[in-house]
Amino acid sequence: MRKRIFWNIFLSSLIAALLLGSVILLAQYRIFENLVFSELASESRYVQSGLASAADEHAYLTSLPSSNRVTLIDANGTVLYDNSSDATKLANHADRPEVAAAKSVGVGTSSRFSETQLIKNFYYARLLSDGRILRVASSQKSVFGMIGTLLPTMLAVLLAIVVISVLFARYAAKTIVQPINALDLENPLGNVAYDELAPLLTSMEHQRREIISRIAALSEKQREFTAVTENMREGFILLDSTDRMLAINSSAAFIFGAEPKQVIGAHVLMLNRSVAIQQALEKAKAAGSGQATLVRGTNTYQVLASQVTDHCTQTGTVILILDISDRIAAEQMRREFSANVSHELKTPLTSILGYAEIMRDGVAKAEDTHRFAGKIHAEAMQLMSLIEDIIRLSQLDEKTSLPELTIVDLKDICEDVCQRMLPQAEKAGVTLNANCANASVRGIPKILEEIVLNLVDNAIKYNTSNGKVGITLKTTDTSVDLTVSDTGIGISDDHISRVFERFYRVDRSRNKQISGTGLGLSIVKHSAELLGATVQLQSKLGIGTTVNVSFPAID
Ligand code: ADP
Repeated sequence: MRKRIFWNIFLSSLIAALLLGSVILLAQYRIFENLVFSELASESRYVQSGLASAADEHAYLTSLPSSNRVTLIDANGTVLYDNSSDATKLANHADRPEVAAAKSVGVGTSSRFSETQLIKNFYYARLLSDGRILRVASSQKSVFGMIGTLLPTMLAVLLAIVVISVLFARYAAKTIVQPINALDLENPLGNVAYDELAPLLTSMEHQRREIISRIAALSEKQREFTAVTENMREGFILLDSTDRMLAINSSAAFIFGAEPKQVIGAHVLMLNRSVAIQQALEKAKAAGSGQATLVRGTNTYQVLASQVTDHCTQTGTVILILDISDRIAAEQMRREFSANVSHELKTPLTSILGYAEIMRDGVAKAEDTHRFAGKIHAEAMQLMSLIEDIIRLSQLDEKTSLPELTIVDLKDICEDVCQRMLPQAEKAGVTLNANCANASVRGIPKILEEIVLNLVDNAIKYNTSNGKVGITLKTTDTSVDLTVSDTGIGISDDHISRVFERFYRVDRSRNKQISGTGLGLSIVKHSAELLGATVQLQSKLGIGTTVNVSFPAID
């Protein structure tokens, strides 16, 4: 723009200067011409009066000191005298415009241009009283001739004009552009540069407000998008059409051990080169969506890829990564549980079947029948308690058909369980000792009872004769602690971590004579979790076991 303004001003000034110069030159030349004609007129009058008083016209004419050409022509155009050429050799001058004009109106002027000499001849003719015509002529340089003479001066002036025009044009361009460059685009209406810019500035202000409101709307959407994706537990990755990452949430970045800001813009395979991601992407490209399973360390993820299309053109891909480790573990546990259940049910049933067959076939002696019936009864009881435990665990797993939590007196339950377990303890030669403070917890009476019952049952079962079982109930500011300790056989360190697994029994062969399902501690753990309590087991082989269940205190 500055260049354009410069050239416009420069050329305009130059053309104006040249035009003005030309006009002045022509006007000067016109004045000069008039001056020449008036000089020629006065000279012709002078010569006319001289001729009138001269005795010898020829002598008079030749004696004239004039530098101008003087010609005397008779009435029919024949040149009688000429001071610059031989009159006899000159052609008839009757057709010369100045001569013709003088003849008709008394005075005639004309000028003729000589291209060869760049000279202009000025003629002034006057009709004498005797009908002859006196013509005085002067040769002067033409305009072009004058220009030729003035050329060095004119070139110097032209150069000066060019320099001045350049300086002026530069200054003008700078001063015109400066206020435009200094415009405050953040506040278009606050500028006072040019009135002509007012419509432009108003429209800029309008556009600026539009842009601000659009940016605000976009930022809001971006914030919403970030809030949604960042609060997702699932990994989220958004890819462009070339599989470069446009967005990645912190869950996805955590799964792949990446820093979100560093991987934005990189190809998704730079994040993870696993076959699962590639497969999911390929399926998504081919069929619109695809999924694959990705295993990273101990975790298993489901990768879901979906195409993002806009007017039937693929504009990107969304990848969701779901942690399905728990689901896989639960499925695995269910499979193992089913296998264990079948196995555990089969053992007493086989035994029952065996005794029943012996009795049916009459193979058993009469005195053994009673014993066999007792065995069948015991195995059936084992079967029953197994089924009851399985049902209880399933209920705890599904969390269905469980009543609402209420405030329950745990001391009451502990004392009640002690009372009920007393005969079993006495039978095993074990002393039961309860030391319970008043304590209530938020829970379900039946479930709390089962917790205490299972723990006391184990403490009696896995005890030695003359052993002791202690039940204590203590309260702190934040918790209610139930502790069941025994001086029994204890559990070795390598088994402690596994005793809460379903169907896990430490020493099956040794435990054979001790009835149990291997589900008791599982039920305790699940029940405690359901009530928001934690379970800790400490045990020393041959010394005894202490199980602590810590319930949250009621607010
Ligand atoms: P079970 O029905 O066999 O008692 P549990 O789940 O209650 O099943 O216990 C799992 C295993 O943990 C038991 O088989 C036993 O070997 C061990 N155990 C549980 N409680 C005690 C305890 N107080 N002392 C020693 N061993 C125990």
